[in-house]
Amino acid sequence: MSESEDCLFCKIIAGEIPSGKVYEDDTTYAFKDINPKAKVHVLVVPRKHYANVAELAQADPAELAHIVEVAQSIADREFHGAYRLIFNTGLDAGQTVFHVHAHVLTGETLDE
Ligand code: ADP
Repeated sequence: MSESEDCLFCKIIAGEIPSGKVYEDDTTYAFKDINPKAKVHVLVVPRKHYANVAELAQADPAELAHIVEVAQSIADREFHGAYRLIFNTGLDAGQTVFHVHAHVLTGETLDE
């Protein structure tokens, strides 16, 4: 799957909807979550559209590994490398945007 016309995050990546960009490279884009659940809450996404992390892992495992690297580098900068990485997968797990995204929660000590 390459792109989805009605996808919110495809529109953010394309610059059609504004976002608080924190990082980008050829394959990957990272921006501030609009409704932060921690002092620093960043979403890291592949530029290519995949519905969820399982689809990404199957199609492009190197990109999944790269997303983890980007998350690590954000946490290295924000909170001595400590962070929580979440991929909500499926409606019943709370996924609301069906363009795979890693939630990176960091910047403060997190509750268990
Ligand atoms: P949930 O809403 O349950 O966290 P997801 O795991 O699918 O579901 O996460 C979607 C995330 O996208 C949410 O944390 C939400 O705050 C965030 N979000 C929605 N719209 C925007 C936007 N325009 N810019 C930045 N983040 C957004």
